[in-house]
Amino acid sequence: MDKELLAMLVCPLCKGKLKYNREAQELHCLYDGLAYPIRDGIPVMLPEEARQLDVDEKLPTSPGRMGGA
Ligand SMILES: [Zn+2]
Repeated sequence: MDKELLAMLVCPLCKGKLKYNREAQELHCLYDGLAYPIRDGIPVMLPEEARQLDVDEKLPTSPGRMGGA
């Protein structure tokens, strides 16, 4: 996904920055605990399309994966 596009995207609910999850092809809002799907490279910024993040997904990136992306 385009980094410049990603930088422009904010959560429609809290207007906070989103975290791109490359493996899951999702944009995570850690504030609301929601994951917005990316379909065919297009972020779907709709709260009704987002899924709830699991508790462990809300935590910072696990050791060994820091500095990626
Ligand atoms: Zn949010």
